[in-house]
Amino acid sequence: MMNCREATQLMSESQERKLSLKESMSLGMHTMMCKGCHNYKQQMGTLRKITRAYAKGKNEQEEK
Ligand SMILES: [Zn+2]
Repeated sequence: MMNCREATQLMSESQERKLSLKESMSLGMHTMMCKGCHNYKQQMGTLRKITRAYAKGKNEQEEK
């Protein structure tokens, strides 16, 4: 199982690239069991929504 540091690292990477299935699965597993990372993820999701609302389509994530 990944540690919190790897989990938060992956979370920030997920803003820039699409995570692999394996990565998002282990990240999901970690955030499900780790309260700290779960909260962090929620906060990050909220932040991202705000940012995206400002960018409005200008900065849409593209498939790579
Ligand atoms: Zn954690």
